[in-house]
Amino acid sequence: MNVLIVYAHPEPKSFNGAMKDVAIETLTAAGHGVVVSDLYAMGFNPVAGRDDMTSELTDSEFFSLPKEQTAAYDAGTLASDITAEMEKLKRADLVIFQFPVWWFGMPAVLKGWADRVFARGFAYMPGRKYDTGMFKGKLAMVAATTGTSADTYAPDGIDGDILTVLWPIHNGLCRYSGFDVLPPFVAYMPGRVGEDGRKAYLEAYRKRLGELETTPPLFFHPKDDYGPNERLKPGVLARSGVQRNV
Ligand SMILES: Cc1cc2nc3c(=O)[nH]c(=O)nc-3n(C[C@H](O)[C@H](O)[C@H](O)COP(=O)(O)OP(=O)(O)OC[C@H]3O[C@@H](n4cnc5c(N)ncnc54)[C@H](O)[C@@H]3O)c2cc1C
Repeated sequence: MNVLIVYAHPEPKSFNGAMKDVAIETLTAAGHGVVVSDLYAMGFNPVAGRDDMTSELTDSEFFSLPKEQTAAYDAGTLASDITAEMEKLKRADLVIFQFPVWWFGMPAVLKGWADRVFARGFAYMPGRKYDTGMFKGKLAMVAATTGTSADTYAPDGIDGDILTVLWPIHNGLCRYSGFDVLPPFVAYMPGRVGEDGRKAYLEAYRKRLGELETTPPLFFHPKDDYGPNERLKPGVLARSGVQRNV
């Protein structure tokens, strides 16, 4: 497989850096091709806006990001830092998002990468979402760290179920654009588990990376489970882990 690791941490010697290095080593040894977008090292600009378009805007009176993204993508006039990432995405069979959970989400640089690179016209279009998303056939996986324990991220934990915390990324970013999403690998509070705990995390991550092809993806309801209002049809038991019957 061709694997793209989108990595967001400001410190190369961090635990996230160690996870990224383990992934490069393990996946390369298994014969996969690995490309890394190290967003901090690249100084990636996370702010979407007018400068993303290198030619005249289609509407100079009112700036609509999705409209201008579509027009510039079609015309091949998006900024070169965006198109370079798009090319990596096109080639990738698997995208790994490697990041520390910051404020229950991705670091801003990674969110901004998504805002700019998952542009309308490239990553989504009317009628192309979820089952028919643009990246159908590709896999995505979150590899993350937290500041608190696995217990706090249990379904009854104080921080809430980790799958709920990651839903905006799993469903909103990845599944929406067509990816199948592998279960996340989360190293909980690597700073507080001691050297043995950290070694165990890296070993477990190595093992997970060796099982990519046999790990079933997370469940998302298929289109047929929804009625015309895009709510689950009566009688369909909500089982995505986040949705619930009301
Ligand atoms: C802005 C902000 C918001 C935050 N919001 C949240 C939140 O919403 N929820 C939450 O849970 N947490 C939150 N946190 C905490 C954050 O998630 C954790 O600090 C982070 O996930 C820890 O990962 P790290 O890579 O930064 O760890 P580091 O502190 O870099 O590393 C932990 C330890 O691992 C060691 N290490 C590095 N490499 C190796 C190796 N190869 N082998 C063994 N040990 C190694 C390091 O030396 C260090 O001792 C937030 C933090 C910030 C700054």
